[in-house]
Amino acid sequence: MNTTAGTGEPIIVVGAGIAGMTAAFRLQQAGHPVRVLEAEDRAGGRMRTVERGGYHMDLAAILLIQNYTQMLDLVRDLGIEDTTLPTNNVVGIKRDGRVHRIRANKPTDLKRSGLMPWSSMPAMTRLQADLTKHQGRLRWDSDLGEVASLDTETAADYAERRLDKELRDYLVDPMSAMFFNSPPDLSVINFLFSMPAVNAEWFNFHDRVDTLTTNLAARLDVETNAEVTLVEEVAGGVRVHWSRPGEPDRVEEAAAAVVALPGPIAARLCPGLAPASLDYLENLPYVPDIHVYFGVDRKPSETATCVLFPTREHADLGVITFNHNFAPGRAPEGHALLTSYYRYPWAIRHWDTDDDTVVELTHEVHRQAWPELAKHIEAHQDMAYVQRWKNGVILRKPGDYARLREFNRGLDPRSRVQLAGDYLAFSATNSALVTGERAATRVRQVVTTGAVAAGRG
Ligand SMILES: Cc1cc2nc3c(=O)[nH]c(=O)nc-3n(C[C@H](O)[C@H](O)[C@H](O)COP(=O)(O)OP(=O)(O)OC[C@H]3O[C@@H](n4cnc5c(N)ncnc54)[C@H](O)[C@@H]3O)c2cc1C
Repeated sequence: MNTTAGTGEPIIVVGAGIAGMTAAFRLQQAGHPVRVLEAEDRAGGRMRTVERGGYHMDLAAILLIQNYTQMLDLVRDLGIEDTTLPTNNVVGIKRDGRVHRIRANKPTDLKRSGLMPWSSMPAMTRLQADLTKHQGRLRWDSDLGEVASLDTETAADYAERRLDKELRDYLVDPMSAMFFNSPPDLSVINFLFSMPAVNAEWFNFHDRVDTLTTNLAARLDVETNAEVTLVEEVAGGVRVHWSRPGEPDRVEEAAAAVVALPGPIAARLCPGLAPASLDYLENLPYVPDIHVYFGVDRKPSETATCVLFPTREHADLGVITFNHNFAPGRAPEGHALLTSYYRYPWAIRHWDTDDDTVVELTHEVHRQAWPELAKHIEAHQDMAYVQRWKNGVILRKPGDYARLREFNRGLDPRSRVQLAGDYLAFSATNSALVTGERAATRVRQVVTTGAVAAGRG
């Protein structure tokens, strides 16, 4: 096995997203030779950036928050602090055609900006009280299965019961659009979790968000274009099968493996998991995402990093980000990069629509939702790019956290195959990273104590 140097037992990591590469990096730091197998031609997964004509498009993750403490620790351990900077954290919310701008770490802006009327102050106080009450349990490194007792209603029902219609329509609803969802579907936990997450200072990487995953990949032995087809636990180790078009199939052996893939793919590759675990992974409620980038040769006047669209403003459009306002280097000098994100039912309806039509439909949506911006984009567009993610983020409905808890309890901590990935937590880079660190700790325990898990239920 061609692993990086190290004196510990060799480990294979499957999947070079942030979860897998964090696991690999931590294992390598602990002295294990580690090899990472990645199906795509590049590492990074949903933390990846592409460049077109000088525009840097962060293909999935875009927003990073100062309370991503585990990510900031990793940045420090990689010695790349100088690639990060604090960034603009102004969020716009559309109401009656006007953008209300709120600094994410200044909840009082909800009132000051005129977004919320004075009559909503008691509801805002109740929301603040709930956030304070639950903040200890809703951390990035929390085991979210353990918050199942709070997971009894949708975000919409919570807003109806505990807040008021204004907060429901102009805060809870647009916040859920940040995750391509809608409050009628979404567990209240997601809303409560996302509020403190964005109620903070933000940071980012100069030029492109994948600076982190690129730096991780540069320090690891990552085999790209290596599609793993099977991960088997055998006596005293694991056997990993992978293939590359036009080449004979390969089998590699190691002491243990971390499988850091979207749930349904993990289920396909790990048939040795318990039937209930496989069933959970196969049926994870991922929602697809379609979003469209527009490069324009003149900056629009908007100063927010993103503008959220409550359903009352537009049924399908969720968010427009102004990527050039997020951090430097996203667009060539004097140009701007904007991205339009849809709520997931639109993505389902248009999954098979070709890219040119998606771009045309998006222009039409802009004309409906924000006519002045639509004019600006159409007059100055010099690039459009459509990105689709089949397994975008997880839509957790009430009751899903109890299922997550059962799933976690059903996993064997002594197994030589440990799982990582954002489906074990809230769908975000930092929580995916935490699951990678956890999986690394577990495989280390298994291989260093010599626990033989092969065949154990
Ligand atoms: C549109 C969008 C916007 C988002 N915005 C944000 C944001 O602003 N901030 C934030 O923090 N999070 C955001 N997220 C969520 C975040 O991107 C993910 O939660 C996180 O990146 C998931 O990391 P992961 O390592 O668990 O999975 P992934 O990144 O999906 O990694 C899995 C890896 O496994 C590889 N793979 C798949 N099959 C195989 C196989 N058979 N063999 C080998 N390799 C395989 C994949 O190619 C991939 O590289 C966003 C997600 C989306 C879709």
